[in-house]
Amino acid sequence: MTDDDFKKSTENLKKAVPLMMKNYVAATPANYALWYTYVDNAIPQLNRELDSVVENFGICPPAASEQLYNTYVASRTETDMRDLRNNIEILVNEVSRSMSDTLSDTSQFSQLIDKSFDNLERVEDQAMSMDEVMTVIRQLVSESREIRHSTRFLNDQLETATREINQLKTQLASVQQDALFDSLTSLYNRRSFDSDLNTLCRSEQKMCLILADIDHFKVFNDTYGHLFGDTVIKGIARRLQLSCRDGIQAYRFGGEEFAMIVPNKSLRIARQFGESLRRAVEKLSVKDRRTGKQIGNITISMGVAELEQGEKGESLIERADKLLYEAKELGRNRVMPI
Ligand code: GH3
Ligand code: MG
Ligand code: MG
Repeated sequence: MTDDDFKKSTENLKKAVPLMMKNYVAATPANYALWYTYVDNAIPQLNRELDSVVENFGICPPAASEQLYNTYVASRTETDMRDLRNNIEILVNEVSRSMSDTLSDTSQFSQLIDKSFDNLERVEDQAMSMDEVMTVIRQLVSESREIRHSTRFLNDQLETATREINQLKTQLASVQQDALFDSLTSLYNRRSFDSDLNTLCRSEQKMCLILADIDHFKVFNDTYGHLFGDTVIKGIARRLQLSCRDGIQAYRFGGEEFAMIVPNKSLRIARQFGESLRRAVEKLSVKDRRTGKQIGNITISMGVAELEQGEKGESLIERADKLLYEAKELGRNRVMPI
């Protein structure tokens, strides 16, 4: 790698890191790679999509980060990735080195001060000449100036940066990633949901949560078999996915339950959206492979809740779930609150 390359990657990382922090992006190697590519402007399509995610959510939720990474960054040639990883590693080592230099400078400095004090004591004890005294003082001043200069550089972040870098090194060793998507429905899975929800709650973005549950689903399983049940789940998932717009994201929450995150909308709008989903699912019919018959009467119930200030993900889920339960109690195939 040439000096210019190194300079460029250092600059890119310096630009990428604050953006990652601002957008609540975790410091993982994949995310570094994603945001590095973003600030590098290497893939315009990636920049457009990332911009639109941030515009919708106000931050960049983990599932979106991971998906963009998979689509645009991980798929690049191995050489690209190797280069990038090398650059990051070199930078990390560079920063580590300059930090440990600073640390040792600091301890040298205190040794030096001790020595100077000894010298000053000698000045009193041994009645040193003015010249000798001045030499001691000049030495002290020049060393302290130097040390202050190098310490100022990283001082505050020293501890956190060291910790982060060690973490990064460990993670660089294993870039293994858990799956993002649910295999039956291809929707984002529960893990994606949990990390997106928690990140959005932490960033205090305006958002609503919709929890949806298929009505009397057990009957489909019992009447037509488990495989048919799977097909119903898939059909509903596809419907939900097709309805997603304005940054709305659908997840498979559990067995026959789904979650939708509706960013940046009021409860009223999110509820309206839920109502349109309910109607779309109502029209759905799924073919029973064994008899060739179309089976209809598929409905879902929903609970919709808006994130309150300072609220945790768990509590938001609990509130949406309670409303979902009310929807079931009131006869199913409805969206609560009314
Ligand atoms: P309710 O209207 O109250 O929601 O009734 P329900 O029958 O939908 O609810 P219940 O919780 O009693 O049953 C859910 C069933 O969903 C039980 C479980 O066997 C089935 N199920 C969960 N995951 C899957 C899956 O991946 N495939 C299939 N085919 N069935 C599943
Ligand atoms: Mg259920
Ligand atoms: Mg159900």
